[in-house]
Amino acid sequence: MFCDNEVSRLARAQGGRDVRSRSAALVDGQLKLDFPPDTLLQMNREGLSAHDWIALVFTHSHDDHFARSELQYFLYPFVDQEYFPFPIYGNATICERMRDRFPDWPIELIETSSFQPVAIAEYTITPIKANHKLDEDSHNLIVQNGSRTLLYATDTGMWHEETWAYLQGVRLDGLVVECTEGFHRTEYYGHLDIAECVALVSRLREMGTLAHGAPVVTTHHAASGGATHRQLEETLAPHGITPGYDGIEIEV
Ligand SMILES: [Zn+2]
Ligand SMILES: [Zn+2]
Repeated sequence: MFCDNEVSRLARAQGGRDVRSRSAALVDGQLKLDFPPDTLLQMNREGLSAHDWIALVFTHSHDDHFARSELQYFLYPFVDQEYFPFPIYGNATICERMRDRFPDWPIELIETSSFQPVAIAEYTITPIKANHKLDEDSHNLIVQNGSRTLLYATDTGMWHEETWAYLQGVRLDGLVVECTEGFHRTEYYGHLDIAECVALVSRLREMGTLAHGAPVVTTHHAASGGATHRQLEETLAPHGITPGYDGIEIEV
């Protein structure tokens, strides 16, 4: 919002794929991954309805993913319903912060832990440990439906070996991975720049975890990374990686 570098100025002037709202995803129109402060705008923009959601699964409690106060608008007196319409899954920090904010709510909260699969309708969700916000069990999410498997890896950092070891036994048909820092690597351990993103994807391919030809799409691009969408396309295309943008749809 307050950034005034070249990428931000270009986005404001020209719009299009350089305008980036906060990261989240929706699987098959019904399984919601993260709930950023831009959720209402994103749903309206795409003509989607939260009435179709069967569950909300959180990766971690950073404010750009966990707009806790916005969840009050799912209940009376803002709407007629008196019960929260779907269960919420999240790590211990998410569950604790939900109970703090909404102590009297009729809401189904289910605590998730890394490497512990949970079944949600026809999906199996397996959180894996991200190298990000280490004072909580920050997740990336493996989403399986039948024989198809997607890894949603926003706010990732370069994984520790326990996560790589777990992924050795997984075969992915699609990957969404962060590329937050673009051309400008920072000292923060918890995000990837372009070189680290490419290295992570290459290692997943080499170990056979990422299927040949499987779609790989980036997310969570910060303006401070200094990369426009066009520049990301030029840089990532040779590595078989598609830069993500608001509203992108991926078939896995
Ligand atoms: Zn984060
Ligand atoms: Zn984030």
